[in-house]
Amino acid sequence: PYDVLIVGGGPAGAAAAVYAARKGIRTGVAAERFGGQVNDTLAIENYISVLETDGPKFAAALEAHTRAYGVDIMNLQRADKLIPAEPGGLISVQMANGATLQSKTVILSTGARWRNVNVPGEAEYKNKGVAYCPHCDGPLFKGKRTAVIGGGNSGVEAAIDLAGIVAHVTLIEFADQLKADAVLVNKLKSLPNVTIHTNAQTTEITGADGKVNGLKYKDRATNVEQLVPLEGVFVQIGLVPNTEWLKGTVELSKFGEVIVDSHGRTNIPGVFAAGDCTTVPFKQIVIAAGDGSKAALSAFDHLIRMPVV
Ligand code: FAD
Repeated sequence: PYDVLIVGGGPAGAAAAVYAARKGIRTGVAAERFGGQVNDTLAIENYISVLETDGPKFAAALEAHTRAYGVDIMNLQRADKLIPAEPGGLISVQMANGATLQSKTVILSTGARWRNVNVPGEAEYKNKGVAYCPHCDGPLFKGKRTAVIGGGNSGVEAAIDLAGIVAHVTLIEFADQLKADAVLVNKLKSLPNVTIHTNAQTTEITGADGKVNGLKYKDRATNVEQLVPLEGVFVQIGLVPNTEWLKGTVELSKFGEVIVDSHGRTNIPGVFAAGDCTTVPFKQIVIAAGDGSKAALSAFDHLIRMPVV
């Protein structure tokens, strides 16, 4: 069995693995896709001390750092079920391939995924004008025209954030009114370079020469289609934690995030969590990595307190 088994190999999982392995304890990482969301990222410009890198390079560096400590990496392996330990026993993780992994402690770091709008052009122009994270990609659109799809809290926050950087923001909301908190909506409406369209259904993200050049939406009241010329589209219709497999075991928030305390502990003894799959505010690489290292130190703390058998 492992001393620490990490499920998920993004920045949180990799940081947890390095911290655990440096304690000289038996460490394994099982990941559906090592590197996680970073694999889908073009430019990374906010990982402190690294002025600029790209996603695949960063993912390769995560893997190299993890391998350097002899961590057992089980890539392309999906976990299906977590089984808490019986008193004095081991925690089990059932894998989709039928295997069961056992460990004294487990760190959950299965991350999250952005919900797609699923219109023509979205997949084609991902990272070529279609973006999901305003903290990450906002500055790439400095002085340009952008749209935000989604008028909930995250969409309106994104629009306010972008309005300070880009030339113009068009906010597109499907429902007949914005669902964000009133204080955010009022702030948004006070900004001179923002246009809001409610009751508007995004129908297509258009582009040419491999770059976004517009967004089409249908006015749901009149059925008339409109085209907004622009350079960037931020899709803000939800970040979904990859925690479906944990339902019924670990305590989750109403958004499906693993509830963690300040030490990365979940409600199950010996089970810790870190990164985008948790209730941590602000989903970012540097935050996930910090929380992964914190969860590993907490797991080590737990291990040294386990009764000697
Ligand atoms: P993830 O990176 O999501 O990794 C999750 C890991 O768990 C993966 O290995 C996955 O395969 C695995 N997994 C999931 N389910 C299972 C399962 N059941 N069994 C086994 N393994 C599983 N942040 C920044 O700070 N700067 C940026 O510039 C930036 N740009 C971004 C651009 C894009 C397009 C996207 C999508 C995100 C961006 N982010 C950026 C956000 C950043 O990528 C995330 O905050 C970060 O990757 C979270 O790390 P994580 O380890 O918690 O989760």
